[in-house]
Amino acid sequence: MNEFHRPDGRLHVESVSLERIAADVGTPFYCYSTAMLESRYRALEEALAGLPATICFAVKANGNIAVVGTLARLGAGADVVSAGELTRALVAGIPASRIVFSGVGKTDDEMAAALDAGVMQINVESEVELEALSRVAEARGVTAPAAVRVNPDVDARTHEKITTGRRENKFGIDWGRVPGVFAAAAALPAVALTGVAVHIGSQLTDLEPFRHAFRRIRGLVTDLRAQGHRIDSVDVGGGLGIDYGDPADGGNGPPSAADYADVVRQEAGGLDCRLLLEPGRYLAGNAGVLITRVVYVKEGETRRFLIVDAAMNDLLRPALYGAYHGIEPVGDIAGGDVGEYDVVGPVCETGDTFATRRPLPRVEPGALLCVHAAGAYGAVMASTYNARPLVPEVLVKGDAYAVVRRRVAVEEELALESFPDWLAAPGAEKKVS
Ligand SMILES: *Cc1c(COP(=O)(O)O)cnc(C)c1O
Repeated sequence: MNEFHRPDGRLHVESVSLERIAADVGTPFYCYSTAMLESRYRALEEALAGLPATICFAVKANGNIAVVGTLARLGAGADVVSAGELTRALVAGIPASRIVFSGVGKTDDEMAAALDAGVMQINVESEVELEALSRVAEARGVTAPAAVRVNPDVDARTHEKITTGRRENKFGIDWGRVPGVFAAAAALPAVALTGVAVHIGSQLTDLEPFRHAFRRIRGLVTDLRAQGHRIDSVDVGGGLGIDYGDPADGGNGPPSAADYADVVRQEAGGLDCRLLLEPGRYLAGNAGVLITRVVYVKEGETRRFLIVDAAMNDLLRPALYGAYHGIEPVGDIAGGDVGEYDVVGPVCETGDTFATRRPLPRVEPGALLCVHAAGAYGAVMASTYNARPLVPEVLVKGDAYAVVRRRVAVEEELALESFPDWLAAPGAEKKVS
């Protein structure tokens, strides 16, 4: 189901015209579809039917409390990787009993916050972290519910910056060492280590790496139980890829939720364990777009540039990963000619490029462009580089929409800064003299 469509020639999200939102909130802005979030969640939930599975949305993909709250209403849990994300998940209405705390560098304060909140599980990624967790829990008089994140040494065959399950990556504990960690944990006073977790990378478009990783986990669960350890939870992580509309993908598209769930079921289903899933991109990626306005059409020597008012600070993925995002004009494109454009932002970096040599309907300055599949790792990765304030986020539901993060004024950003004593504020100096 695609909620981005052209009922009257112009692009809408559900029943709301993107031109109307742009006129109301200005550009650039992110826009998310409630129906898309819901349909993705339900597709995965249905695919997992019959399994004792909890879908824990990876908040790092999109931490807006309205987005997380939409999923919370459907019964989602959350996977969080910082104290900030923990707060967001709780504020959005996700019960602590459905929150997993992951991440390779949790501080004592973050562990304390997770324990105080009463999260379901803390996934530890090293022996030293396990000891730290026991120490923090002991000081608070509680027992920490923990799982070990296993590094299965499986190549996810995705972009090198988002592959996490190989031995040389910083993530998890090498699978061969996991039994030793369980044995050592038995001597720790304040951890109950009863789970294993795996997450091998993001934007996987092939199911085989998942299968290999889950199979390795299944073997570990069997071995650990044979060694007398209680294992009651298996966390299969996230990573399911989505369609970015890249023609280089060969039109195969990512696996369906059903095919992915079949692999989970086959490899991890019969373990008599609670199953946790941590999808981020799959739930939110296609549910969001970035809307930007063409400022100039610049004829270069060899290229024609569309200079737009969004930039790499608003959507980093193309600059960071060379990522492809489908782009189309919001206005009516029927019958127009097609040109070839580089779509670029105004930031002083050559990497500030959303698309290169992209065939697009011819557009004039002032036209709105829709950058697709920006609902995950979009707004959350934004920065204020070039003193460009963070852009608004809008959530659509049916024929209604709401600004769920308002535009920040430069003055509000500046209000966070101050002059030290030894530098008189320019304004103050004048008043004194
Ligand atoms: C990033 C991450 C996820 C989510 O990954 P997606 O590719 O967005 O599904 C899940 N679990 C962990 C531990 C992560 O680091």
